[in-house]
Amino acid sequence: MTKQMYCVACPLGCFITVEYDDTGILNVTGNTCKRGIDYARTEMTNPTRSLTSTIRVIGGKRAVIPCKSHEPLPKNMMFDCMKEINKARVKAPAKIGDVLIPDILGTGIDIVATDNCD
Ligand code: SF4
Repeated sequence: MTKQMYCVACPLGCFITVEYDDTGILNVTGNTCKRGIDYARTEMTNPTRSLTSTIRVIGGKRAVIPCKSHEPLPKNMMFDCMKEINKARVKAPAKIGDVLIPDILGTGIDIVATDNCD
């Protein structure tokens, strides 16, 4: 069996073909560098994505503060994580790097601020 995908580990976006069977990955082609193999392996076993969004701020100079996942989250949890982020409220002030939602949905990954809000 084969699966094709674009590697998103860098802007080059190599078109990768993964050959696999029930035992696992047999071959990876189309990658320009080793990171493409790592990307393909992760995509085939536990795909992850970085999440960026905003969280509502209480008492701040602006209504929302931008945020991101400190590390990539499991792809199949993105929707539920967005629901948690949409429910969350943060009291001002907050600064870059502050943990706004610790251990979101038990993933062990924090949602952190990517800007300041007085
Ligand atoms: S395989 Fe390497 S060069 Fe190609 S997109 Fe992935 S990281 Fe970039």
